[in-house]
Amino acid sequence: MKTFLASLLVSTSLASHAAAPADPIVPGKDYHSYADTNAFRVKHLDLDLSASFDEQRLSGVADLTVTRVSPDARDLVLDTRDLVIRQAWWLRGPADLVPLRHTIGVRDPMLGAPLTLNLTPEMSGPEFTVRISYQTRPEASGLQWVPAPLTADKTHPFLFTQSQAIHARSWIPLQDTPQVRHTFTATLRVPPGMRAVMGAESASNPLELAADGVYKFSMPQPIPAYLIALGIGKLEFRATGARTGVYAEPSVVEAAAKEFAETEQMMQVSEKLFGPYRWGRYDLLILPPSFPFGGMENPRLSFITPTVIAGDRSLTSLIAHELAHSWSGNLVTNATWRDLWLNEGFTVYLQGRIMEAVYGARRNAMEETLDLAILRDELATHPKPDQILAIDLRGRDPDDAFTQIPYIKGHLFLSWLRSRFGEDVLDKFLQTYFDAFEFRSISTELFREYLEANLLPQKPGAVTAAELDEWMYQPGLPKNAVLPHSDAFQLVDAARREFLGGKTAAADLPGKSWTTHEWVHFIDGLPAKVPADKLAALDEAFGLTNVGNSEIAFSWLRVAIANEYSPAYPRLDSYLTGIGRRKLIKPLYEDLMKTPAGAERARAIYTRARPGYHPIATATLDAIIYKDAKR
Ligand SMILES: [Zn+2]
Repeated sequence: MKTFLASLLVSTSLASHAAAPADPIVPGKDYHSYADTNAFRVKHLDLDLSASFDEQRLSGVADLTVTRVSPDARDLVLDTRDLVIRQAWWLRGPADLVPLRHTIGVRDPMLGAPLTLNLTPEMSGPEFTVRISYQTRPEASGLQWVPAPLTADKTHPFLFTQSQAIHARSWIPLQDTPQVRHTFTATLRVPPGMRAVMGAESASNPLELAADGVYKFSMPQPIPAYLIALGIGKLEFRATGARTGVYAEPSVVEAAAKEFAETEQMMQVSEKLFGPYRWGRYDLLILPPSFPFGGMENPRLSFITPTVIAGDRSLTSLIAHELAHSWSGNLVTNATWRDLWLNEGFTVYLQGRIMEAVYGARRNAMEETLDLAILRDELATHPKPDQILAIDLRGRDPDDAFTQIPYIKGHLFLSWLRSRFGEDVLDKFLQTYFDAFEFRSISTELFREYLEANLLPQKPGAVTAAELDEWMYQPGLPKNAVLPHSDAFQLVDAARREFLGGKTAAADLPGKSWTTHEWVHFIDGLPAKVPADKLAALDEAFGLTNVGNSEIAFSWLRVAIANEYSPAYPRLDSYLTGIGRRKLIKPLYEDLMKTPAGAERARAIYTRARPGYHPIATATLDAIIYKDAKR
């Protein structure tokens, strides 16, 4: 497969997000980076950073070892956003620093500002190393400095990074494009009593704190910038298997280790299906509740929201998802954010295969059916161009691409291929695909070529080019989609009908034996308007307002908002102020904003909650809460 690899992996990236959308998209071109990867490519990064929680800044140096691609290139252009660049040098020798002239271009609100290093004529060789001395600003979009009161234990502050999609540039000057992969090493200096962890090999004993607060890391596999990750906090470690473990605040670590005890088993299942795990260890870092996402697949160390610690392992599909990214995403990576569905759709498919093997088909069918319902909601409301797998993101923040389309529609695309070729054939194809493109970044079009060369000939005529085009380049859900189905949910539907029709009292529903998924399906299927006495009866029988499970509570609170069910308002308040996971809070704010009284409630809660939210969450929520009002 080498021939077309070479032809399509050549990328251009002149960072022209201003390109007129009428121009055809150039596949593989990254419209969200200033880096010119035809001129230079970063090969290795060495970081030496100190963390100051008082000043909310990282400060130190980044050494970039750079491979020259073009013999004529004179300037090395890097991505930055809100960095304070102090000085730049060429490292001519170990103790031989040659100052370099540097300029910072105009700041674009989305892309940040290009940092240009003017190279000296002596730097014309195939490889050189530059050193950049810099510090971050408190508003860095990729860093969240969580004050102690907003952590689980409330004794120490917490810092965590979120580099995806284009936030790495807010804490490291680099080529922030998924098509450049490099290794890294890092030295981190943190306050006494705290531990630094990274998505990398750690040189220190996880059970002991470094007395001098210095932690060293090494990432021997080349990764894209969006996977560089750091966490600092009062962290303890518990092993959950030979290769797996959990880092978390002391009050959380035992519950987390128990909740995620099946991680090693998930790894074994994944390796059997999709080939060897390439990254050594697989640990989890449990973040404070303000983490805006469910999880982030940072290699070797997935970052995980505490909202999935339910006590009954009912929300562990998130771990299967982040682990699956060790193949789809981290090993084979989207070349640009337009190709995000190659990361996420494949990962949701792998997640389903893992969940089915570990927890059985019944649970997986329920989870996939719930996913489909969410996708249908989005298809009903999202503009047509945003329903396309290979989405046009020119001129837009790549964070906008993280809808259910690349995830669930992408998953359904693979389910459809499975229906045409058979599960064994598709699983084997995926394993070959991961081997063929390991540690590479690929575009939708390159995947398509590989599919046509390697899967389609296995059963000629099983799919047509027109069908593939519809899946990849058309909005909506193709009519030939193979949709998930859950028998368990049919029983729940019947119980709901009986309850709403007055044939079954709330207390007589079989809810005590329902799983999380059955409950979510029951609540999500309630009509828009439910009589207050029925809500009160459900609440009394099953304690829904105060349920600990974050997903059940979310569904219930949506019903409460739609029906102005005031007994749930205090919980709504504590829910929205207590967690910052965007998926769980954004719809609640959107629901509240639909009525004047709700909007008033939303604004009052948001004013109190906002300081505890992550910048990625507030960027989304500000647009919802302040859409009609001047701040
Ligand atoms: Zn994912």
